[in-house]
Amino acid sequence: MKALAAFPDEKSVRLIDLPEPGPLGPSDVRLRVLDVGICGTDREIAAFLYGTPPAGSPHLVMGHESLGEVVEVGAAVTNVAVGDLAIPMVRRPCPHLYCRPCRDGRQDFCVTGDFLERGIKGAPGYLAGQVVDDERYFVRVPKELRDVAVLVEPLTIAEKAADQVSVLLQRIPGNLEQSAAFRRAVVLGAGPVGLLGAMKLVESGWETWVYSKGDPSSPSAEVATALGARFVSSDAHDPASLAEMVGSISLVYEATGAARVSFDVMSVLGVNGVFVFTGVPGRKGPIELDADLIMRNLVLKNQVVVGTVNAGRADFEAAVRDIEAFLGSFPEAVRALITARIPFDGAREAVLSPPPGIKTVVEVG
Ligand code: BGC
Repeated sequence: MKALAAFPDEKSVRLIDLPEPGPLGPSDVRLRVLDVGICGTDREIAAFLYGTPPAGSPHLVMGHESLGEVVEVGAAVTNVAVGDLAIPMVRRPCPHLYCRPCRDGRQDFCVTGDFLERGIKGAPGYLAGQVVDDERYFVRVPKELRDVAVLVEPLTIAEKAADQVSVLLQRIPGNLEQSAAFRRAVVLGAGPVGLLGAMKLVESGWETWVYSKGDPSSPSAEVATALGARFVSSDAHDPASLAEMVGSISLVYEATGAARVSFDVMSVLGVNGVFVFTGVPGRKGPIELDADLIMRNLVLKNQVVVGTVNAGRADFEAAVRDIEAFLGSFPEAVRALITARIPFDGAREAVLSPPPGIKTVVEVG
């Protein structure tokens, strides 16, 4: 089968031929890969700034946002059946018995760092004709979601964040999460992670502003508006004027990977506010911060700053349900997120220099 692989030692990214994985154990599933989404992590792997091949292998098969069709199942599999659409999760647990999160299926909270991530860290990814893995790592997807289900994995970031925010808000009396006055959120960044986060917030009843570089007539700004959020250009408005427009900002969902704008907006976070970081910044050197102001606000306004990475099975299942809900509420906005579909032969170019737009998807099969 064909696969797109990064060779870090050779500094090369290319299509290669690999034997099909298998044979299947009793609880294994074989997936024929259909779609793979390309994200910033893939671009970093292709630039050899991130990512690790499996132990002993010179290459890492890339790709972690995917959708496929189940084509074979082991004798004991009950979770999916041949013909189903399914999405493989990304992270695999570490081997250490004392890692409670991994033993409980919550490898997104692995305490040892010895987890694997398919297509990213120590395990082959999904830019390949077929994938074989244990059934517990596959999430079934209704057939009606065929054209957009590749967006489930990036949406899991927002699902896990929403869950974390709920937990954090429970420490404050008065059920703030259900209070209309409290539910004012700012999303930083209008890429796929930001726009999917905005969809999750709007769908959950938050008044939502998307704060991003770019013109209000750009395609991303139009998607933000179409889904019911308000777009504010950071080229035209500084964080102080953003805060004036919003009123008290109770939640910031960061999806830029940019420290400058993030900490500038953190300094206008409101009372009892939560700031969620999802972006992984490249190393661009130190920046100057008004740390006194940020620290003062954190204390005097009971604020919380939280980072979140990867997602658990429940987040994948929630993302499948929510993509369906979004298609009901703002179908055009959901469909507008996928701005390019590239045949598998063009996968190398798709990761090295993706076409301008929101989300590029490689059609593997
Ligand atoms: C992926 C996550 C992964 C993270 C860190 C993201 O792009 O979506 O699954 O945990 O990168 O490697």
